[in-house]
Amino acid sequence: MWVHKRLCLIFINYNKDVIIMERLSMFPKVKLSHLPTPLEEAPAFAKAIGLKTLYIKRDDATGLALGGNKVRKLEYLLGKAVKEGKDTIITTGGPQSNHARMTAAAARKLGLEPILVLKKRGVWQDKGNMLLDRILGAEIHLIDTDNYSDVYSYIDGLMEDLKTKGRNPSMIPVGGSTPLGSLGYVECAREIFLQSKDIGFIPDNIVCSSGSGGTQGGLLLGTKHLGYDTKVIGVMVSPEKDFDKVIFEIVKGAADLLGIANPVDFNDIVLEDYVGPGYGIPSKEGKRAINLLGQTEGILVDPVYTGKALGGLIDLVENGKITSDSKIIFVHTGGAPALFAMEPGDIWEGRK
Ligand SMILES: *Cc1c(COP(=O)(O)O)cnc(C)c1O
Repeated sequence: MWVHKRLCLIFINYNKDVIIMERLSMFPKVKLSHLPTPLEEAPAFAKAIGLKTLYIKRDDATGLALGGNKVRKLEYLLGKAVKEGKDTIITTGGPQSNHARMTAAAARKLGLEPILVLKKRGVWQDKGNMLLDRILGAEIHLIDTDNYSDVYSYIDGLMEDLKTKGRNPSMIPVGGSTPLGSLGYVECAREIFLQSKDIGFIPDNIVCSSGSGGTQGGLLLGTKHLGYDTKVIGVMVSPEKDFDKVIFEIVKGAADLLGIANPVDFNDIVLEDYVGPGYGIPSKEGKRAINLLGQTEGILVDPVYTGKALGGLIDLVENGKITSDSKIIFVHTGGAPALFAMEPGDIWEGRK
């Protein structure tokens, strides 16, 4: 009976895996990444924070212009743009946007013109990601606001202007977190579980940094579709209102695109708030995590996203919300270029 049940489960999982592969392959996609990324054990860091086992999914190593999570989304988003004959790609983000940097690199690789509309109040410095945007030759528009609705109305005007000049622009919203973009993380969930099965480590929890929601949404949809009851914990790094609803909309939209019934319940969306003093401002937990991971594993995380997410994980273990024998996969979504926009004293805490 037990064997029978196991076989049934394997069969169901196999079938769902085939369905997801078939459906994903129906979308026009461009190759930008070096996938699959490694799933790497982090034993010294795990020991230091009181966890038995921890694996890191190295999506900082996706391969395009210093890598990060946006590459997986851009393979789908730009696949569509190329198919539609677009010649110019416009996107937005903060001045240290990894998404903007990777979009600029992807556009260059595909022979398209990148335009970045970056949003911030106050000073801009051509450091970190912004230096890389310059090197990639992106046309940069700096908008002095902290409101995305200002940015999008500016982009509307820009698009009209480009069209009158005979150009054919495409706009990618912040973070590439549309249902189409999130398919890249449905695909990543599949990759994670294939690798997990290989090493006999099916995670109880997948932990990732969550900013515009496409990464968490895609991972959650992929996980549930494949039939796993693994929790996907998103660590919030910016104060978004109704963020769970935003993620749920992405999930529903992605399930629709794939033509599958949505297997995700609203309550499956787990968010932990580790924003700290504000978006892009280093937090105490984040700084500790950056220094500890560097000094135990030789892996670099950033102050805006992955450091805060990892700091959140440490806190969840220390306050007992995650038990020490829990099987964790931490998704390293990239972002280290932002380190080069920081002053050393903002990050470095000395040797541990
Ligand atoms: C954009 C980004 C995230 C957040 O991913 P979303 O899909 O926007 O939630 C996390 N980490 C890094 C390094 C990022 O650049």
